[in-house]
Amino acid sequence: MAPNIRERTYIMIKPDGVDRGLIGEITARFEKRGFKLIAAKLVSPSKEHLEKHYEDLCDKPFFPGMIGYMLSGPVFAMVWEGLDAVKTGRVMLGATNPLQSGPGTIRGDYALAVGRNICHGSDSVENAEKEIALWFPEGLVQYSRSHEAKVYEI
Ligand code: UDP
Ligand code: MG
Repeated sequence: MAPNIRERTYIMIKPDGVDRGLIGEITARFEKRGFKLIAAKLVSPSKEHLEKHYEDLCDKPFFPGMIGYMLSGPVFAMVWEGLDAVKTGRVMLGATNPLQSGPGTIRGDYALAVGRNICHGSDSVENAEKEIALWFPEGLVQYSRSHEAKVYEI
């Protein structure tokens, strides 16, 4: 089967990342890697929206504090497309706990605390599809890039 160069992942810069001026740093890494940006917006989601996004974690003790943190300012929501986008996106983000994230990862370079880890990335293709539908009900942007054959062997 041909490699799927259209896999999509939902990447979000959390309020601490936005406040600290890291939107450019983080988006630049995905751009330079070769991924294609197909949606992006700065948004202040409601509590209900964030609880839906994190519904799998609702029983965790850190859940209320984490929702409070996510409500502390706007987030920068993005969809990136490309080969192995979900898994590679998670590798680029680093471990959930930044102290366990290697240097060169986003969390490993810019964060220290699990509850202030500056970014979110989908953890499976199935969850990516759900998250993209939740955050971008208006749909994504369709366009072709001129340099696709310089990124992929096509
Ligand atoms: N989180 C936290 N304390 C914990 C574990 C997680 O505050 O002990 C927060 C952290 O910001 C994390 C988010 O909850 O990014 C979602 O947790 P998940 O396990 O899905 O980690 P992720 O997928 O973001 O790496
Ligand atoms: Mg997660």
